[in-house]
Amino acid sequence: MLLKGKKGLIFGVANEHSLAWHIAREAYAQGAEMLFSVASDRFLRKVEPLAAKLGSPKPIICDVSTDEAIADAFVEIREQMPEIDFVVHAIATAKREDLQGRFVDTSRDGFNLAHDVSTYSFLAICREAEPFLRPGASLLTLTYLGAVRAVPSYNVMGVAKASLESSVRYLANDFGPQGVRVNAISAGPVRTLSASVVKGFKDKVDIQQVAAPLRRNVTGEDVGKAGLFLLSDMASGVTGEILYVDCGYNIMADFITRDGS
Ligand code: NAP
Repeated sequence: MLLKGKKGLIFGVANEHSLAWHIAREAYAQGAEMLFSVASDRFLRKVEPLAAKLGSPKPIICDVSTDEAIADAFVEIREQMPEIDFVVHAIATAKREDLQGRFVDTSRDGFNLAHDVSTYSFLAICREAEPFLRPGASLLTLTYLGAVRAVPSYNVMGVAKASLESSVRYLANDFGPQGVRVNAISAGPVRTLSASVVKGFKDKVDIQQVAAPLRRNVTGEDVGKAGLFLLSDMASGVTGEILYVDCGYNIMADFITRDGS
């Protein structure tokens, strides 16, 4: 029971395929109590029964694109969870048209939206959570290889993820003196609602299957277990890190030889 007695917030469950859901399931199995937050009423109907399965109350609604909404959410959170041991931030968005074609064609609006919702929201949430964090708390976000490599179609989201990864390091420095850790998981491609919007997503999954050292796709469960590690005291000395959970795909250079080996 690695998380027995620990309480945490989960931002970014849309359905049972969401990476945040996989992390929450692993955390629950190890004794954690959680409060979920969803962007809008639209997903409340879907997420409320999922939350109930893990013994969690009705999710809080918080569209992270405004500071007011985040502050309001934390008023509710404080009532239900006055002390916090972990936060999972699994939120990202971009305009559909910016996840295909050329990066150079990204509009100012599209650039700002991707950075605001996918990156700034992490620091805004960390800041609001700060007064309630217990020593040893763990703050976790989700990123992707497109932060450090040019992945076709990932475009502006890759640039936002680069900013998110850098934010992880700065936040780790800010929170470290309080004994609070900040990390990210860089997950390989997993079929989820948001992933399906990236043009050519299926190709990325197919390539990973043959090119990753483990010769398979990463699963939600793989991500969930790595999340559990980073949230738990098993990772007590780990902060400011980007942990790749991608079956090793990121270490490869030349993926496929002529004979297919
Ligand atoms: P997902 O199930 O679609 O989750 C994305 C979540 O972001 C949804 O719950 C969505 O809520 C939320 N969100 C978007 N805009 C929001 C806003 N303004 N306010 C609050 N919440 C908002 O997809 P996922 O793949 O699990 O994504 C989770 C994280 O993992 C993302 O950061 C993603 O970039 C990252 N990641 C995913 C993969 C992958 O292959 N799936 C790989 C690496 C990293 P609504 O649906 O209600 O808008």
